[in-house]
Amino acid sequence: MINLHASETPANILIVDDKPPNLRILSTMLIKAGYKVRGVTSGKMALMAAKTMPPDIILLDIKMPDLDGYEVCQQLKQFPETADIPIIFLSALQDVEDKVKAFAAGGVDYIIKPFQFEEVLARVSTHLALKKARFQLQELNEELEKRVRERTADLEEVKERLLFDARHDTLTNLANRSLLLERVDLALKRVHEEEDYLFAVTVIDLDRFKMINDSDGHLVGDRLLVEIGRTLETLVSPADTVARLGGDEFAILLDPIDDVNEALKIAQEIKTALTTSFFIQEREIFTSPSIGLTISLPTYQSAMEILRDADIAMGQAKEKGRGRYEIFNQQMHAQALKLLTLETDLRHGIDKQEFEVYYQPIMTLNSVKLVGFEALIRWQHPHKGFISPAEFIPVAENTGLIIPIGKMVLEKVCQQIQTWKQKFPQATALKVAVNLSSKQFNHTELIQEIDEILEKTGLTPNNLKLEITETSLIEHSLETIKLLKQLKKRNLEICLDDFGTGYSSLSYLHRFPVDTLKIDRSFINCIGKPEENLEIIQSIIPLAHNLGMEVVAEGIETEEQFNYLQQLNCDFGQGYFFNRPLPAQEVEKLLQGDP
Ligand code: C2E
Ligand code: MG
Ligand code: MG
Repeated sequence: MINLHASETPANILIVDDKPPNLRILSTMLIKAGYKVRGVTSGKMALMAAKTMPPDIILLDIKMPDLDGYEVCQQLKQFPETADIPIIFLSALQDVEDKVKAFAAGGVDYIIKPFQFEEVLARVSTHLALKKARFQLQELNEELEKRVRERTADLEEVKERLLFDARHDTLTNLANRSLLLERVDLALKRVHEEEDYLFAVTVIDLDRFKMINDSDGHLVGDRLLVEIGRTLETLVSPADTVARLGGDEFAILLDPIDDVNEALKIAQEIKTALTTSFFIQEREIFTSPSIGLTISLPTYQSAMEILRDADIAMGQAKEKGRGRYEIFNQQMHAQALKLLTLETDLRHGIDKQEFEVYYQPIMTLNSVKLVGFEALIRWQHPHKGFISPAEFIPVAENTGLIIPIGKMVLEKVCQQIQTWKQKFPQATALKVAVNLSSKQFNHTELIQEIDEILEKTGLTPNNLKLEITETSLIEHSLETIKLLKQLKKRNLEICLDDFGTGYSSLSYLHRFPVDTLKIDRSFINCIGKPEENLEIIQSIIPLAHNLGMEVVAEGIETEEQFNYLQQLNCDFGQGYFFNRPLPAQEVEKLLQGDP
């Protein structure tokens, strides 16, 4: 005989039969088979016994005097603690109807008396096994549901983190551009719906951050950005949004504000708070911000427009000298549009070769002899006519177009001098100065490009001079010295242009291998005007000579200026007094004539 429960605690069986002999026989047999057995002789007792200590299975007689088996079964099915106990009916009733009734009442099986022991044992053990399987299934289900719940919670967490990451900057944990735009759009919606609703957006750019990053390292740069983010958060209310747009650019949505003054006050506070030094990894780092500000107007249609205008205002603040804030206005918009068209036109201009090089003669001042030229680019726009380099060179610099333009000028100039040298004997020793923008100066391929152009045109380097500005020297001083030395090695001369307008200090000049100083036109302009202080010019010339440099005066327009500079021993001069910048054919006439 098999007992499925042999290895576990024995199953509990309740036997209900009003005839004690039946009860006894059945009990003995089941106990022998290893079960724990209780026996009762009436329906009422059965209910009580089942409720006080629910058995694992019940063998239930149908015909009993008080409550019959069907009744007992139905009642047991009504209580949660007994509802799941499998009930096997025992009966001498053989009718199909009785069996149907037994199953309808909730029985799981039906054994006909007189029974075979083996049959009873087999059915009992089958139903116990079924019950156990049902129980295990239920447990399994619950476990499964629990796991699904846990996985869902995990996924929810991951989803939230991804959502956070998608809308925040990983370095500073501040909102990123897309979250900022989202919030500005919401604020704009309120502006459209509610009269007098007002908000502001500021864009903040750190001045000279690239320099900090380059000289102090990216780690320091990153720490600084985090500090700046924290500082900004302390300046605004928690409802405002501080965002990092990327690089060293931050933005703040001030939403709402009472009036324009409130926004201006905060801009001022940002300026003060960021015009300071931060201590990072025991280093003191000075910063200043350029800040642009826009105020919400119902005419704005999208967050992008607002951010764009704050950005334009920020650009203006930078241009006006950094470390300041500007509030956006329509004029700026017009200016920005103009620059944008200029950029497009420049690209076309490069493709269609609308540029030409003019040459302004440079003379010795003591004997007024031609020694060379300054090459100056000219742009003949097909519709807008002549556009001044003072206007388009800054745009070319900001857009990187200066690199192809600069290369083109260098190529044209080298080709041109080489031609003149072959045509005119007196052109052999001429030096032509080409202007190099600080962006070109910073361009890694500059040296290689110059080498290639010299090689291609066959020009000797001593006919070429490169003009750079003081700002290019200051901005990248270490690399600059290296680059200048490489240029000098090739016998190229260096001229420092617009001297006196930048960080003019003669004290650092000896560090740079510069051959010539070109005094800016603004100083030459002063000559001959009453009450002008000429001390600067008077001191520059002998100081430069002491450092072994030659001096060029730029923008000589009058005889008086010429005479004065001659007296001061200035070496060279250029200006309308001698010649305006000339197209190549005019220069040829000059070279054909008086040497
Ligand atoms: P710059 O290098 O200082 O050039 C001198 C400027 O002064 C030229 O203006 C020249 O025409 C002007 N000038 C010369 N003599 C006189 C004078 O007697 N009176 C007056 N009022 N002006 C005089 P331009 O050609 O308009 O060029 C302006 C600036 O654009 C240049 O200043 C230079 O910084 C830049 N530039 C011109 N060509 C190039 C180029 O090929 N590459 C680069 N990177 N910059 C260039
Ligand atoms: Mg120049
Ligand atoms: Mg100049």
